[in-house]
Amino acid sequence: MFDLVLRRANLPDGRFAIDIGISGGRIAAVEKALAASGGREIDATGRLVSPAFVDPHFHMDATLSLGLPRLNRSGTLLEGIALWGELKPLLTVEGLVERALRYCDLAVGRGLLSIRSHVDTSDPRLLTVEALLHVRERVRPYIDLQLVAFPQDGYLRVPGAVDSLKRALDMGVDIVGGIPHFERTMEEGAASVRALCAIAAERGLPIDLHCDESDDPLSRHVETLAAESTRLGLGARATGSHCTSMHSMDNYYASKLIPLIAESGINVVANPLINITLQGRHDTYPRRRGLTRIAELRAAGVNVALGQDCVMDPWYGLGGADMLDVANMAVHAAPMTSREAIKWSFDGVTNTPAKTMGLEGYGLKVGAFADMVVLQAADPIEAVRMRATRLVVVRRGKVIASTPERVASLHLDGRPPRVDPAEYAPQEGGK
Ligand SMILES: [Zn+2]
Repeated sequence: MFDLVLRRANLPDGRFAIDIGISGGRIAAVEKALAASGGREIDATGRLVSPAFVDPHFHMDATLSLGLPRLNRSGTLLEGIALWGELKPLLTVEGLVERALRYCDLAVGRGLLSIRSHVDTSDPRLLTVEALLHVRERVRPYIDLQLVAFPQDGYLRVPGAVDSLKRALDMGVDIVGGIPHFERTMEEGAASVRALCAIAAERGLPIDLHCDESDDPLSRHVETLAAESTRLGLGARATGSHCTSMHSMDNYYASKLIPLIAESGINVVANPLINITLQGRHDTYPRRRGLTRIAELRAAGVNVALGQDCVMDPWYGLGGADMLDVANMAVHAAPMTSREAIKWSFDGVTNTPAKTMGLEGYGLKVGAFADMVVLQAADPIEAVRMRATRLVVVRRGKVIASTPERVASLHLDGRPPRVDPAEYAPQEGGK
């Protein structure tokens, strides 16, 4: 007897008609035709059941602030930065908490149950840190929230930033952040990477830097991050986020850099929704896409994950906690349209970011936490194609969100009365 059984599910690895038995908040069985029954049973026949989605790169202190104190009319990074500067003095802990909790509600409905959020530590009052630490505890029953101390205005560039970052870590922020390409000079950028890596090593913390979010091919701070991570043994505890300058780098240099990144064991996070809109903005034509080299990094064995970065904040007015939207954009923007690569994009919002975040007990296997999503799609590629509806979201064995199937009723003579977009999966060699 299980607490919950999901029946006849398709799994991301291609197995089908699999039953998943859940007991005590963990997965107790993954097999065909499970004999024992569940206190509650969910029919998942032909539906993809996936581990819950994971967002390895987000800014929860800014989310849903679009319109405060005014809208970003031009949609440019510069107006976004100006807006955040106008908003910062007006922020309150209560407002930050309320927006973050509302965002988490949206995330749960979309099956997004693990989030790594950067938290701006530039304002020495650290209201953002206070608010997000509170939110981390509030949402713990349903979302794993990791926080990164992020000196958004620069670590060495702004007086007081070194002290603010230290205080944020002392208050309980989980991860060391930074923004080397925003320091005054290349030398100071590299110095900030070295200083921040030293802090991570000393405190035994992960490090996750906004690294080379630039179209400047000479922005090479990921090189220093990889080298320092190797020297200090940080390995998979270290992450380079964005790394968009790699897009514009000379191929010869990239051919030296990518093996260096692979050797170091650091993770790379690409943020396709944001970087396809923010990069290449100084170009006329041709226009660069400005995503990091996902395919080459993967081929070298680097753990690459896809992040969301922003939802309805001063920098990005769109988005909606939908990691399938992120995967879909990666496929288009990279571009990477082989069947293997599209399928990988689903991994890029589930398994690979779980590795980046060091999540324990993740995945659809016996002994793992029972955190999963039933999707209105037959397989991962179909889920990415349709940004499939999350029919049921399960956390620790309990249903915490559900959404009705998205089907259209047709009122056309001679055509079917009901259209389910999930019934359009390709049948290779079929009639
Ligand atoms: Zn970011």
